This record gives sequence, structure tokens and C-alpha cells, in this order.
Amino acid sequence: MGPLTIRSVPSPSSAQNPALSVLQQVFGYPSFRGQQADIVDTVIAGRDALVLMPTGGGKSLCYQIPAIVRQQQGRGVTLVVSPLIALMHDQVGALEEVGVKAAFLNSTLDFEATRRIERQLLSGELTLLYAAPERVTNARFQALLDSLHERELLGLFAIDEAHCVSQWGHDFREDYLQLSLLHERWPDVPRIALTATADAHTRADMVERLQLQDARSFISSFDRPNIRYRVVEKKDPRAQFLRFLYDEHKGDAGIVYCGSRKKVDETAEWLLAQGIKALPYHAGLDTATRAKNQDRFLREDGIVMVATIAFGMGIDKPDVRFVAHLDLPKNIEGYYQETGRAGRDGEAADAWMAYGLADVVQQRRMIDEGEAHEDFKRIQRSKLDALLALAESTDCRRVRLLGYFGEGESPPADGPPLGGRAPLGGGEGPQGRRLGAYCGNCDNCLNPPAVWDASEPARMALSCVYRFQKERGQRFGAGHLIDVLRGKETDKTRQHRHQELSTWGIGRLHSETQWRAVLRQLIALGALHVEGEYQTLVLADEARPILRGEQAVRLREGSGEGRVAKAGKTRKSAATAPPVHLDADAQQRLEALKAWRTEVAREHDLPAYLIFPNSTLNELAARNPSSLDEVAAVSGVGAKKLEAYGRELLRVLSAS
Ligand code: ADP
Ligand code: ZN
Repeated sequence: MGPLTIRSVPSPSSAQNPALSVLQQVFGYPSFRGQQADIVDTVIAGRDALVLMPTGGGKSLCYQIPAIVRQQQGRGVTLVVSPLIALMHDQVGALEEVGVKAAFLNSTLDFEATRRIERQLLSGELTLLYAAPERVTNARFQALLDSLHERELLGLFAIDEAHCVSQWGHDFREDYLQLSLLHERWPDVPRIALTATADAHTRADMVERLQLQDARSFISSFDRPNIRYRVVEKKDPRAQFLRFLYDEHKGDAGIVYCGSRKKVDETAEWLLAQGIKALPYHAGLDTATRAKNQDRFLREDGIVMVATIAFGMGIDKPDVRFVAHLDLPKNIEGYYQETGRAGRDGEAADAWMAYGLADVVQQRRMIDEGEAHEDFKRIQRSKLDALLALAESTDCRRVRLLGYFGEGESPPADGPPLGGRAPLGGGEGPQGRRLGAYCGNCDNCLNPPAVWDASEPARMALSCVYRFQKERGQRFGAGHLIDVLRGKETDKTRQHRHQELSTWGIGRLHSETQWRAVLRQLIALGALHVEGEYQTLVLADEARPILRGEQAVRLREGSGEGRVAKAGKTRKSAATAPPVHLDADAQQRLEALKAWRTEVAREHDLPAYLIFPNSTLNELAARNPSSLDEVAAVSGVGAKKLEAYGRELLRVLSAS
């Protein structure tokens, strides 16, 4: 790999600003996004930074550009701590594509390869080194960092996915707890910690455990405007999902989350039988299969990954067009993280969830029967409640979602820090826009649900459970309760002589579906608890105000079923540039460029989007450049890629 040749200085400002110059020359992007410029300046100046930015916000550049600039200034290498060994190869590959010297050290390397990288480090050749957190406690590695430090070649620590340090979230990694060691042992090396996890508790954990009290914190808005949120009532979930897939996402890449390994396997098999390119992913599969499936998802087009929550962290595939939940996530944090994997490229994407009474029952039971301490269970229950409220809501999902993370009542972008999101370490407030009560891109906004007053049926259901308990000393599940309310005779109702109850048949006027919705809501509200192996319903204190008529129960009419709108040009995208319109010729050029990209990606053993993102190919197809200078002007074409691919691109364009 030859040295980087700087062709020309694109703008006068970049001449004085090394960070902007790197952005333009190396990465080929004209300008920084959001808070990137501030973050990069802070870290280059040697201050610690804590970066909270949603998925797709552009976190990588926040440490890659300081790494390059600090290396140019002779300050040595940046150590990137990243939890996922399986992704390091691609991360390093992407940097090599833009001409930045990078390497990883992990357990997949043999001794010889490890030695070679150590030598490169000590001679100051590398700009970035990726390593997994467990390596930090390894004596040989510590000695290596010591040697680098002595030579003043240890430039920066970047801690990616920093939320893994918190037991609060589901990505907790024991090894992350050791990372405070970096600061203790090499206190003069600046650090940047990054995450897309938004909740306050995790944030506080990161500051404390990584000793980032003095770091400047940069909190972006967590809104993902291009993601359309939708929750449908679970009836026949497979059929519902298939319809969604066929109507809106034929041939698209997507992720389908299921609650168990068994369900993942069954769902993937079933999708395959439907002719969908589906692959399973869960912790029960052997490492090789997992790696192979993940690789195919990243490298091939249009794969549907069916997975447990074991899948997804660190996956930077930009064109995941939908994330579907066939089972309820554990909490809003999980829902936000999982759905956030859709639409990293800023183009329209869908978050689709099917949710029903059985999900509520199941999740409650898992908490109740779990091994956890009672205090922890209480937290889990309240988190589940918040998620259920989101699923049951009849108003804007986005407003609720962001409200949960303390956003929404926010002042305009440059206003003072806000209540729920007081920045840590004396930093800046979130950058964002004020959201009204309406986002225009969720099911409830696009298709406001009719709401009916279910207070009366709610009271009926609760008093029926009361009769079971008080008059008969019995407990029953939802199915039987609905039969009694609707006056439907079964062996069980006869056996227990439930026809004699005063609540027998009082709910005839409502359909079984309506009753399921009422019960779901009552469980969601905590008025009914689900207990034991038979998932029986038990009255809770929270039932009182409803029984007394002090609290109304309002439900959505029907269910948020069906399409909100056809996915298409009218959909929101978060991209800053307007979508490029391609005429027939340009479309043909785009196809040729894509075919060329597939070839290059295969030769380099990298996902296609790391060679060039779609946005770059689109711009190339639209502009149809005829000289290298014109190619260089396209966003995403830096110096190295121009040198490596410029002529090829011109050839492909002129031949198509
Ligand atoms: P994150 O890690 O925050 O999820 P990434 O770092 O993967 O996001 O960035 C998402 C995408 O946005 C990448 O394709 C990246 O190259 C692109 N990107 C980041 N910053 C900029 C910028 N300033 N201009 C143009 N594209 C950018
Ligand atoms: Zn909305």
C-alpha cells in the first residue's frame, strides 16, 4: 500500500483544520455531521469524551479521525476496544480501503501474525489497533502498551460499545469492567467512549465504571426519523408478518427477532419454505455457523436474519430495511436498540412488531419465575410496564419512545440542558429538534386509531376474577375467564358450575378479540397478575381504582393491523441530501456500478457497502463523471479510493 497522496486542498478552511482535511481527503465526505466536529476537536486536543449518538449517527469517524490526526502529529497509535472479534476483520478492512493502516489483535491470529503486528506497532506504523476487552488484562498485551507508552506511541484509547460496562443493559460484558485499568495505568492517554444506548442509568454506569467524570459528554438526539414504528395486534403472526414482508419488503434485507432459540429455528425454516432467503442466528448455534450466517447477512443482498437478541450489536450493515419483532422485547431499551439496526443509511426503514396477550403473560411469567433478586425483578417489571404502555399506546409511538429516554420536552437544539437528560461531566445538552405530539411516521400518527372506552368491560373482567377468588377460592387463566364472561359453555365451565356465577355471560356483547385486548391492557396496567405454571390471573391492588370507576380504561378499536402506507418515495428519510433521481440511463449505470462493486467486494473479502455505500454509487450514476477530478468530487470518494478505483469507475461508467 503506497503512501497517501494529497491531491489538492478542497477548501481554504481545511488547510487550517487537520480534522476537516482528513474527513475530506481520506473519507471523501464534504462536511461533519451533527456534533462530530466538536467531538473530534475535543479528542484531538487530548481531552476525554463520552459520545452518545444513535446508530447510524457516525460514531466511527469520531475516533478514527482523531486517530489519524494524532498519528500525523506523531503521537502514536489509537487502541480501539471493541467487543466483537467477528467484526474486526471488516472494521480493519474498511480502514485499509481508505488507506489507513490498521490491524487487530485477537484470538484468531497465530503467533507469527501477532508478532508481526507487535513489531509494526513498535515501529509506529499503525494508526489504529482493534482489540477485544479481555486482551487488556493480558500481561503480554499490557507490556506491549507499556513499551508503546514509553516511546510516546500510545495516542488514544477508544472504547466502542461502552454501554457493555453496565449490568443494566443486556449487552453487559464482564471484561468491560477491567477497562478502567486503561485510565489507571496510562492516565495521560486521552479516552473516548462511545455508545448508542440512551438510558440514563447506563450512562451513569459508564461514567462511573470507566472513570469518565472529567470527560466532556456529547449527547445527540436519539430520534431516528427514517424509522417507521408500527405495532400490530398478534392474531396469526406468521401470516401477518408474511403479508408485511410481501407488501413492503420483498427482496429487502431485514432482521426478525424471536424470543427463543427454538422459535428462531422454526421461523427461519418456515421462511425458507416460503421462498425467503432466511438464516437463523442464536447462541445455541456453533461458532462457525454463527460466523457464516452473519457473514452472509453482511455480504449478500436481501437476507432475512431470524435471530434472538444475541444478534445485532456492532452490525453496521447500512441497508437493513426492516426489523420485525415476532415476540415482545424485554424492555424499551431493547426495543430501541433492536429496531435501531434498521435504516443506518438514513433511508426509509420499518420497525414492525406483532404483540398479543400471550406475550404479556409470557414476559411477566419469565420475570416472576426468574432467579433474580426481588429488587431486580421489580425493576424488570416496571421496565416491562413501560414497554407495554408503548405497545398499547394510541398516541405517537416516537414521542413515547423518546420521552422514555427523557427527550421530547426538550428545548430547541441549542437550548440549555434538560431535566431528564442532564449531561454528565459538565458537557453539552443533546442536539435535537423539538418533537410535537405528532411525528407523522408511526402507525398511530399516520392512521390514528379509534379509541373506545373499555372501563365497563374492564370492571366486568376484574369482578369475574374477584368472584373466582373470593367465592370459589379458585384461579383461572385468560381463556376460561373469557368463556365465562361471554357465557360460552365448555366442559370446564360445567365442571365448576360457573353458569351460576353472577358474572356469567355479562360480557356477551364483546367479541373474544375485544376481551383479549381488555385483559392484555389490564395485565399491562398491573391490575391483573399472571401466576404459576397455568398462567392464572390474580387480582392486584392496581385493580381497585378501575373497579371503583376512578380510572378509565381506553383501548384502541380493532388493532393497528395492516399497512400504514406503501413504502415508497413519500417515506421519510434522514439523509441530509435530497434523494437523487435517476433516469433510465443512470439506472443502468447504477446497475453496472453495483455489479462492479460486488466483484471488488468479493476479491477483497469485504461487504459491498464497505467498498462504497449505495449513496456514493447513486451519486456516481447520477453525475456520470468523465474525469478523475469529477469522480473525486463525489461524496464518499477519498484519495485512496480515487487512486485505487477512479479509473475503473470511469471505465464502468463509460461502458454502460
Ligand atoms: P454509527 O457507528 O454511529 O452507527 P457509523 O460510524 O457506522 O455510525 O456511520 C454511519 C454511516 O454514515 C457510515 O456509512 C459513515 O461512513 C457515514 N458517515 C458518518 N459521518 C459522515 C459524514 N460526516 N458525512 C457523510 N457520511 C458520514
Ligand atoms: Zn408518531
